Amino acid sequence: MNTTTGRSTRLRLTEIFASVQGESTRVGLPTVFVRLTGCPLRCVWCDTEYAFNGGETHGVDEIVRMVAAHGLRHVCVTGGEPLAQKGCSALLTALCDAGFDVSLETSGALDISTVDPRVARIMDLKAPGSGEEAKNRWANIDQLRRGDEVKIVLADEADYAWAREQIATHGLAGRCEVLLSPVAGQLDPAQLAEWIVRDRLPVRFQLQLHKVLWADARGK
Ligand code: SF4
Repeated sequence: MNTTTGRSTRLRLTEIFASVQGESTRVGLPTVFVRLTGCPLRCVWCDTEYAFNGGETHGVDEIVRMVAAHGLRHVCVTGGEPLAQKGCSALLTALCDAGFDVSLETSGALDISTVDPRVARIMDLKAPGSGEEAKNRWANIDQLRRGDEVKIVLADEADYAWAREQIATHGLAGRCEVLLSPVAGQLDPAQLAEWIVRDRLPVRFQLQLHKVLWADARGK
């Protein structure tokens, strides 16, 4: 059997834990998080650097069993950049087949077209303040559909102006939900909220709920 696309696929895993979803339109829902190891990006404000290396390898079926043991319906596959592992698509499909409601958090730098259509893709666009704007894979935008979400994390007013321009240029709000978040400790959330209302932007403002609840604690 093909070891990268079949059920014998193995993936490197940093952690699996249950928490409440801290972002996206699913915010607040009790969710199992599957954090895959590794990321080809280096966003300057990254808060999951511990997922860049290490971890342990597990088979797809084993990961599905570990998820099921938590007894929750919602599952979020995250990273790192989960799509950097070839077996990620097989894992997503296996989780859907097992009856879970599955979302994927991805950087927007890699091809999202291989992802099972049952999965809600929460895709970043990297603003200049991330230091990784050049990694945006713009071809992904044509792949977006209702049920997906675009998330842009903003470090300052220049990032906000950039996001406003991308939303208009690519008609993002007509494709799916668009989420704007401030970098914690860097951009005043109230200021961002005021800009959004001032400009009547067709987006959803969000704060990272897990940071409000648990700061940067790992496994929360
Ligand atoms: S894509 Fe995500 S995991 Fe990778 S460096 Fe950026 S914030 Fe961190």
